Amino acid sequence: MSAFRALRIPQGAFCVSGRFGVQGSNRDIGAASSSCRVLALANQKGGVGKTTTAVNLATALAACEKRVLIIDLDPQGNASTGLGIGPEARRLSTYDVLLDGVTIAAATMPTPIPRMSIVAASLDLSGADLELADQPRREFRLRGAIDLARLMYDYILIDCPPSLNLLTLNALVAADAVLVPLQCEFYALEGLTHLMRTIEQVKRAFNPELSIQGIVLTMFDKRNNLCELVAADVRQHLGATVYETIIPRNVKISEAPSHGKPVLIYDMRSSGAQAYIRLAREVLTREGRAPVQERTA
Ligand code: ADP
Ligand code: MG
Repeated sequence: MSAFRALRIPQGAFCVSGRFGVQGSNRDIGAASSSCRVLALANQKGGVGKTTTAVNLATALAACEKRVLIIDLDPQGNASTGLGIGPEARRLSTYDVLLDGVTIAAATMPTPIPRMSIVAASLDLSGADLELADQPRREFRLRGAIDLARLMYDYILIDCPPSLNLLTLNALVAADAVLVPLQCEFYALEGLTHLMRTIEQVKRAFNPELSIQGIVLTMFDKRNNLCELVAADVRQHLGATVYETIIPRNVKISEAPSHGKPVLIYDMRSSGAQAYIRLAREVLTREGRAPVQERTA
């Protein structure tokens, strides 16, 4: 636990009171909050930073004393693996929640990060898309389960698979808002148009309250001119929806999952970890949830 105890969010860099506390337990959830925010991390493209953002934004929010749940909705289970939860440890999973009526509470597992829990994904989730197809209220399975869990957390982050299938649809129907990681590459905006159209359809058909939480530019390489151009283009088209914070391409971010750790734990000082801390700060500030010291500063 020493690495977790050592992790302190530097003053002024994030929330002044942000810390992981000693021996934080995922079980001492504390008083129920009615202001849980459910965010779906979605982009039908693979490899754009959905899982990386889910894991590291969740960690940064937990470091700021928020109670966070990750729901791993990708059959590849990368969020689960990236948090050190091997396949053998995944007794109950999102598959059981979606198809067997298991509650989120029963399927939730602690992570090594205080205040942060996960519902892991297992390989049988890869068949869930088809299995869900002839279930009643197939689009609302996750929403129903999450509604019961809202009182336990400040944030629930859903890590979506790289397609617009029934699993992603369940996430969009369950979520309050969508957070879109967008890789700084030539075709970035093209895929985004498709995603935005899907979000509009979901709003009309299933979830009128669904909004766009924000778009976060990922894997930004400052030595690559194209990245600058894409970032400028995306900002011009989408304005304030795009977070100020840009996640740089950083080798520590890509190394961390193989150690079963978020980059904030693997190398707190890396540019990647610092960027995710800034992103969490921006997310909280936009929601008016920044600590008092921040708001009055
Ligand atoms: P997705 O969930 O959208 O498929 P991932 O988060 O799994 O994408 O990222 C794809 C790959 O890129 C992973 O190997 C991850 O470690 C790596 N990666 C993600 N973000 C960064 C970054 N900012 N810098 C370097 N590597 C990154
Ligand atoms: Mg992923």
